[in-house]
Amino acid sequence: MNTVNYLRISLIDRCNFRCSYCMPEAEELAYLQSQETLTDTELLYLVRGVFVPLGINRFRLTGGEPLLRRGVVSLVEQLVQTPGVMDVSLTTNGYLLEHMAADLYQAGLRRINISLDSLEAQTFRKITGRDQWQRVWAGIERAHQAGFDPLKLNVVILPGVNDHEVVNLAALTLERAWHVRFIEFMPIGNTGYFDQVGWVSSEQIRAQLRAHFGLTTGACFGNGPAEVFQLPGAKGTVGFISQMSECFCDRCNRVRLSADGLLRPCLLNESGQVDLKTLLRTGVRTELIQQQVTDLLVLKQDIHFKERDRGHSTGAYARTMSQIGG
Ligand code: SAM
Ligand code: SF4
Repeated sequence: MNTVNYLRISLIDRCNFRCSYCMPEAEELAYLQSQETLTDTELLYLVRGVFVPLGINRFRLTGGEPLLRRGVVSLVEQLVQTPGVMDVSLTTNGYLLEHMAADLYQAGLRRINISLDSLEAQTFRKITGRDQWQRVWAGIERAHQAGFDPLKLNVVILPGVNDHEVVNLAALTLERAWHVRFIEFMPIGNTGYFDQVGWVSSEQIRAQLRAHFGLTTGACFGNGPAEVFQLPGAKGTVGFISQMSECFCDRCNRVRLSADGLLRPCLLNESGQVDLKTLLRTGVRTELIQQQVTDLLVLKQDIHFKERDRGHSTGAYARTMSQIGG
């Protein structure tokens, strides 16, 4: 049985980008009201009183766009300083990093993932719906200067949109000790778009890289779902998260908490989720909350990937990645 020690916390369901693969384009999503979102106090209470005592001691802050959350720097600082917390990281679209990278580093954050699907301003705009490539790139450079290590770039390759950039994106790792991670496009959130454009498998990307650069053969698994390779002589690495083409449930060590307090055992499955916000706000004792979380962790071992196809066909992936905390 795999030990679950990692929680992805969605700090906010809102986002200032509209990535085609993540959020539906036209209709506005029904955003949470502020009172529906877990407060900093509630989050820290859950971390101290529930997650850390149960052995969940590594946390990634995500969203939506986590840097849009008011007071996020102070929350990071408090989280980093919480006894028993071993690791805090954050995933961002980079839009606000130019101004916030130094403060986040100062607050104790050391690990950051930045989504960057293109090195071309026009393609970037097409994917994110925002003409902000320069600003995001400046944010990445600022994060690098601030000292973030590892600095990872998350890339989703979309057929006919940015698949011509695989080589250039991977080449970023040659001279920089950055980690470029290719994430397979999943039919979550914007399923209409997925059906329209399709997806590119990690193996297709690796084949391109092998043909162009050569690729180290021995993949190693990092602390999570990514398979990690290197271009010959590169300072950084290229990683692959292949949730469409490969089942990595056997090494899955994570659960997810949405901004409105739903603890979810698996990205691809909603069964068994626990409404922590309601438990907290109705005054349920900490030990009973712990018990419900323990039950969910036991259930997790059994649900996983096998229900993926069912989820897609029934529209069970009603929540977007931005709402789940991707
Ligand atoms: N807004 C932040 C960002 O973009 O980095 C954090 C939240 S975003 C939901 C986290 C990651 O999920 C991003 O790297 C994004 O590329 C990925 N993502 C979103 N929708 C996806 C999908 N349908 N398939 C695969 N990855 C997806
Ligand atoms: Fe926003 Fe991140 Fe989703 Fe893009 S991937 S729309 S930046 S939450």
